[in-house]
Amino acid sequence: MIGDRIKAVLAELPAHVELVAAAKTRRPEEVLEAVAAGAKIIGENYVQEAEAAQAVVGRNVRWHFIGHLQTNKVKKAVEIFDLIETVDSLKLGREIDRRSRAANRVMPVLIEINSGREPQKFGVMPEETEALIRNLTRLPNIRVEGLMTMGPETGEPEDSRPYFRVTRELFDRIASLGIPGVAMTRLSMGMSHSYRVAVEEGATIVRLGTILFGPRPA
Ligand SMILES: *Cc1c(COP(=O)(O)O)cnc(C)c1O
Repeated sequence: MIGDRIKAVLAELPAHVELVAAAKTRRPEEVLEAVAAGAKIIGENYVQEAEAAQAVVGRNVRWHFIGHLQTNKVKKAVEIFDLIETVDSLKLGREIDRRSRAANRVMPVLIEINSGREPQKFGVMPEETEALIRNLTRLPNIRVEGLMTMGPETGEPEDSRPYFRVTRELFDRIASLGIPGVAMTRLSMGMSHSYRVAVEEGATIVRLGTILFGPRPA
Protein backbone atom coordinates (compact mmCIF):
# COMPACT_ATOMS: atom_id res chain seq x y z
CA MET A 1 0.00 0.00 0.00
CA ILE A 2 2.59 2.55 1.10
CA GLY A 3 4.83 1.27 -1.67
CA ASP A 4 2.18 1.77 -4.36
CA ARG A 5 1.49 5.32 -3.21
CA ILE A 6 5.19 6.20 -3.16
CA LYS A 7 5.64 4.85 -6.68
CA ALA A 8 2.60 6.76 -7.96
CA VAL A 9 3.82 10.06 -6.50
CA LEU A 10 7.38 9.53 -7.74
CA ALA A 11 6.01 8.84 -11.23
CA GLU A 12 3.91 12.00 -11.11
CA LEU A 13 6.48 14.49 -9.82
CA PRO A 14 8.60 16.38 -12.36
CA ALA A 15 12.24 15.31 -12.40
CA HIS A 16 13.45 18.49 -10.68
CA VAL A 17 11.17 17.99 -7.64
CA GLU A 18 12.37 15.86 -4.73
CA LEU A 19 9.98 13.88 -2.55
CA VAL A 20 10.41 14.03 1.21
CA ALA A 21 8.39 11.27 2.90
CA ALA A 22 7.16 13.03 6.06
CA ALA A 23 7.29 10.27 8.62
CA LYS A 24 6.11 11.78 11.90
CA THR A 25 4.25 9.25 14.08
CA ARG A 26 4.99 6.41 11.62
CA ARG A 27 6.59 3.18 12.74
CA PRO A 28 10.14 2.51 11.51
CA GLU A 29 8.77 -0.47 9.54
CA GLU A 30 6.49 1.88 7.59
CA VAL A 31 9.44 4.14 6.83
CA LEU A 32 11.37 1.10 5.64
CA GLU A 33 8.48 0.22 3.31
CA ALA A 34 8.64 3.72 1.84
CA VAL A 35 12.37 3.40 1.26
CA ALA A 36 11.97 -0.02 -0.34
CA ALA A 37 9.51 1.56 -2.81
CA GLY A 38 11.99 4.25 -3.81
CA ALA A 39 11.73 7.10 -1.28
CA LYS A 40 15.17 8.73 -1.13
CA ILE A 41 14.53 11.38 1.55
CA ILE A 42 12.80 10.93 4.91
CA GLY A 43 11.45 13.96 6.78
CA GLU A 44 11.32 13.84 10.56
CA ASN A 45 9.80 16.32 13.05
CA TYR A 46 11.37 14.82 16.14
CA VAL A 47 15.00 13.97 16.80
CA GLN A 48 14.21 10.92 18.92
CA GLU A 49 11.75 9.50 16.41
CA ALA A 50 14.39 9.95 13.70
CA GLU A 51 16.95 8.04 15.73
CA ALA A 52 14.52 5.14 16.17
CA ALA A 53 13.74 5.14 12.44
CA GLN A 54 17.42 5.31 11.48
CA ALA A 55 18.17 2.30 13.65
CA VAL A 56 15.88 0.29 11.34
CA VAL A 57 16.24 2.09 8.01
CA GLY A 58 19.92 3.04 8.13
CA ARG A 59 21.71 5.99 6.54
CA ASN A 60 21.58 5.05 2.87
CA VAL A 61 18.77 7.56 2.40
CA ARG A 62 18.87 11.26 3.25
CA TRP A 63 17.22 12.58 6.40
CA HIS A 64 15.67 16.05 6.57
CA PHE A 65 14.65 17.69 9.81
CA ILE A 66 11.28 19.40 9.18
CA GLY A 67 9.95 20.12 12.69
CA HIS A 68 10.64 22.90 15.14
CA LEU A 69 14.18 22.44 16.42
CA GLN A 70 14.83 23.25 20.07
CA THR A 71 18.34 24.36 20.88
CA ASN A 72 18.87 21.49 23.32
CA LYS A 73 18.28 19.02 20.44
CA VAL A 74 20.73 20.64 18.02
CA LYS A 75 23.76 18.59 19.02
CA LYS A 76 22.01 15.35 18.13
CA ALA A 77 20.33 16.86 15.08
CA VAL A 78 23.62 17.83 13.43
CA GLU A 79 24.82 14.27 13.91
CA ILE A 80 21.86 12.53 12.31
CA PHE A 81 20.36 14.89 9.69
CA ASP A 82 21.57 15.80 6.21
CA LEU A 83 19.53 19.01 5.97
CA ILE A 84 17.67 21.12 8.54
CA GLU A 85 14.70 22.75 6.78
CA THR A 86 13.43 24.93 9.60
CA VAL A 87 15.93 27.59 10.67
CA ASP A 88 14.02 30.74 11.63
CA SER A 89 16.28 32.63 14.02
CA LEU A 90 19.88 33.71 14.42
CA LYS A 91 19.91 32.05 17.85
CA LEU A 92 19.10 28.67 16.33
CA GLY A 93 21.53 29.27 13.49
CA ARG A 94 24.34 30.05 15.94
CA GLU A 95 23.73 26.87 17.87
CA ILE A 96 23.69 24.79 14.67
CA ASP A 97 26.95 26.47 13.64
CA ARG A 98 28.57 25.84 17.01
CA ARG A 99 27.53 22.19 17.18
CA SER A 100 28.44 21.60 13.53
CA ARG A 101 31.92 22.98 14.11
CA ALA A 102 32.35 20.58 17.02
CA ALA A 103 31.16 17.74 14.77
CA ASN A 104 33.56 18.91 12.05
CA ARG A 105 30.90 19.45 9.42
CA VAL A 106 29.08 22.19 7.53
CA MET A 107 25.32 21.90 7.97
CA PRO A 108 23.07 22.75 5.01
CA VAL A 109 19.88 24.50 6.10
CA LEU A 110 16.74 26.07 4.69
CA ILE A 111 15.11 29.16 6.17
CA GLU A 112 11.51 28.61 7.29
CA ILE A 113 9.27 31.45 6.11
CA ASN A 114 6.08 32.42 7.95
CA SER A 115 4.37 33.06 4.62
CA GLY A 116 0.93 33.45 6.21
CA ARG A 117 2.25 35.97 8.75
CA GLU A 118 0.55 34.00 11.52
CA PRO A 119 1.68 35.27 14.95
CA GLN A 120 1.52 31.86 16.63
CA LYS A 121 3.46 30.06 13.89
CA PHE A 122 7.16 29.37 13.53
CA GLY A 123 9.13 30.85 10.69
CA VAL A 124 10.69 34.20 9.92
CA MET A 125 8.63 37.04 8.44
CA PRO A 126 9.31 37.56 4.73
CA GLU A 127 10.75 41.06 5.23
CA GLU A 128 13.17 39.81 7.90
CA THR A 129 14.55 36.97 5.80
CA GLU A 130 17.32 38.81 3.96
CA ALA A 131 18.79 40.18 7.19
CA LEU A 132 18.70 36.76 8.83
CA ILE A 133 20.43 35.15 5.86
CA ARG A 134 23.12 37.86 5.77
CA ASN A 135 23.79 37.28 9.46
CA LEU A 136 23.96 33.51 8.96
CA THR A 137 26.61 33.90 6.25
CA ARG A 138 29.04 35.00 8.96
CA LEU A 139 28.81 31.55 10.52
CA PRO A 140 31.26 29.20 8.79
CA ASN A 141 29.67 25.88 9.70
CA ILE A 142 26.15 26.52 8.43
CA ARG A 143 25.21 26.97 4.77
CA VAL A 144 21.89 28.41 3.57
CA GLU A 145 20.59 26.49 0.55
CA GLY A 146 17.05 27.76 0.18
CA LEU A 147 13.67 28.38 1.77
CA MET A 148 10.87 26.30 3.25
CA THR A 149 7.29 27.20 4.12
CA MET A 150 4.22 25.50 5.56
CA GLY A 151 1.62 28.21 4.94
CA PRO A 152 -1.66 28.42 6.82
CA GLU A 153 -3.92 25.37 6.94
CA THR A 154 -6.43 25.85 4.19
CA GLY A 155 -9.50 24.02 2.96
CA GLU A 156 -8.86 24.07 -0.75
CA PRO A 157 -5.42 23.42 -2.28
CA GLU A 158 -5.87 26.56 -4.38
CA ASP A 159 -6.06 28.65 -1.17
CA SER A 160 -2.39 27.82 -0.51
CA ARG A 161 -1.23 29.36 -3.77
CA PRO A 162 -0.69 32.96 -2.49
CA TYR A 163 1.58 31.72 0.32
CA PHE A 164 3.63 29.56 -2.01
CA ARG A 165 3.86 32.46 -4.45
CA VAL A 166 5.07 34.90 -1.78
CA THR A 167 7.72 32.41 -0.74
CA ARG A 168 8.81 31.76 -4.33
CA GLU A 169 9.09 35.51 -5.01
CA LEU A 170 11.22 35.92 -1.90
CA PHE A 171 13.35 32.96 -3.03
CA ASP A 172 13.90 34.59 -6.45
CA ARG A 173 14.69 37.96 -4.92
CA ILE A 174 17.26 36.56 -2.50
CA ALA A 175 18.80 34.48 -5.29
CA SER A 176 19.14 37.66 -7.36
CA LEU A 177 21.13 39.36 -4.57
CA GLY A 178 23.97 36.89 -5.09
CA ILE A 179 24.93 36.89 -1.41
CA PRO A 180 28.35 35.19 -1.13
CA GLY A 181 28.10 31.75 0.48
CA VAL A 182 24.35 31.47 -0.10
CA ALA A 183 23.02 28.94 -2.61
CA MET A 184 19.33 29.49 -3.35
CA THR A 185 18.77 26.07 -4.89
CA ARG A 186 16.04 24.42 -2.81
CA LEU A 187 12.47 25.54 -2.26
CA SER A 188 10.54 23.23 0.06
CA MET A 189 6.77 23.73 0.00
CA GLY A 190 3.63 21.67 -0.41
CA MET A 191 2.08 18.92 1.67
CA SER A 192 -0.40 16.16 0.79
CA HIS A 193 -3.34 18.39 -0.06
CA SER A 194 -1.37 21.18 -1.70
CA TYR A 195 1.69 19.73 -3.39
CA ARG A 196 0.43 20.05 -6.96
CA VAL A 197 -0.13 23.77 -6.46
CA ALA A 198 3.29 24.06 -4.80
CA VAL A 199 4.99 22.41 -7.78
CA GLU A 200 3.21 24.84 -10.12
CA GLU A 201 4.56 27.67 -7.96
CA GLY A 202 8.15 26.45 -8.17
CA ALA A 203 8.72 23.99 -5.32
CA THR A 204 11.80 21.79 -5.71
CA ILE A 205 10.96 19.75 -2.58
CA VAL A 206 7.51 18.54 -1.51
CA ARG A 207 6.91 17.03 1.94
CA LEU A 208 4.19 14.38 1.91
CA GLY A 209 2.86 12.35 4.81
CA THR A 210 -0.82 11.46 4.69
CA ILE A 211 -0.99 10.75 0.98
CA LEU A 212 1.84 8.21 1.32
CA PHE A 213 1.26 6.64 4.72
CA GLY A 214 -2.49 7.18 5.21
CA PRO A 215 -4.19 9.24 7.92
CA ARG A 216 -2.10 9.74 11.06
CA PRO A 217 -3.26 7.82 14.12
CA ALA A 218 -5.20 10.20 16.38
C1 LIG B 1 3.44 16.50 8.83
C2 LIG B 1 4.18 17.43 7.97
C3 LIG B 1 4.11 17.35 6.57
C4 LIG B 1 3.23 16.35 5.84
O1 LIG B 1 1.88 16.67 6.03
P1 LIG B 1 0.75 15.81 5.30
O2 LIG B 1 -0.42 16.73 5.28
O3 LIG B 1 0.51 14.60 6.14
O4 LIG B 1 1.22 15.48 3.94
C5 LIG B 1 4.87 18.23 5.82
N1 LIG B 1 5.66 19.15 6.40
C6 LIG B 1 5.76 19.27 7.73
C7 LIG B 1 6.65 20.31 8.30
C8 LIG B 1 5.02 18.42 8.56
O5 LIG B 1 5.12 18.55 9.88
